[in-house]
Amino acid sequence: MTTKLNDFSKLCVHTLTTKPWNLRQCLENYSSSEIHGITIWRNVLEGQNLKECKQILDDNNMVVVSIARGGFFPSIHKEKRKISIDDNLLAIEQAAAVGAPVIVLVCGAEEKQSLEKSREQIKEGIIKILPEAKAAGVKLAIEPLHPMYAGDRSAINTLAQANQIAEEINSEFVGVAVDVYHLWWDDNLQQEIIRCGNNDNLLAFHVCDWNVPTTDFLNDRGLMGDGCINISEIRGWVEEAGFNGYNEVEIFSDKYWATNQNEYLEKIKNAYLKYT
Ligand code: ZN
Repeated sequence: MTTKLNDFSKLCVHTLTTKPWNLRQCLENYSSSEIHGITIWRNVLEGQNLKECKQILDDNNMVVVSIARGGFFPSIHKEKRKISIDDNLLAIEQAAAVGAPVIVLVCGAEEKQSLEKSREQIKEGIIKILPEAKAAGVKLAIEPLHPMYAGDRSAINTLAQANQIAEEINSEFVGVAVDVYHLWWDDNLQQEIIRCGNNDNLLAFHVCDWNVPTTDFLNDRGLMGDGCINISEIRGWVEEAGFNGYNEVEIFSDKYWATNQNEYLEKIKNAYLKYT
């Protein structure tokens, strides 16, 4: 049963959703708007003292839901795969330092090899960083991306593929992130969400909307209610699967970034209550 929320206790906003703001602006503005869940994109951590960041997060009663993002494992070059492992280890350190329980993995793709080969390398990469993730108490969430990104951003494009890899690795520290933007079109979505929950692999739930027509493959995501995704139906499936974590608003939008971010945050809250 879907319970419609009338409060913001399960609302989380990704810092990239309000891209014009730095970390301090994000968390102070979220906090003063009754939003206490935050997913931190690593760009806003660059050059920051992580201890101080943690202090400011705590001072503002913020709950860090996850860190975005790790991943980008596949490459035909061994050296590049090694650089990616090091970057993922850094992400684990950053997550532990700010108290994030999860790292979202945008797994990557390599145009010069098959998707199968890339998926093999993704699995190898996750297995390689798993001991450090475990030691730090940080879980790794494989996020399937829409097939339009199969050439460059992710060789994992369906929830079935993500479930498969998570089940093969079979660790409580590896699971899956469900993002409505990437998965709404899939007619196996409901059953794959239930499968994900049955295996205790459902770690994160991301929301936004699919604009029609979409004018940019990366930065034209819609606010919930702007587009064609039945978000509350998918949220119902996610809850049915046992998920009771945050609903994370992740919107990359040149259109909304160009507007007043405080007004935008109010729009997000309204859209959250109405369409999520
Ligand atoms: Zn996402």
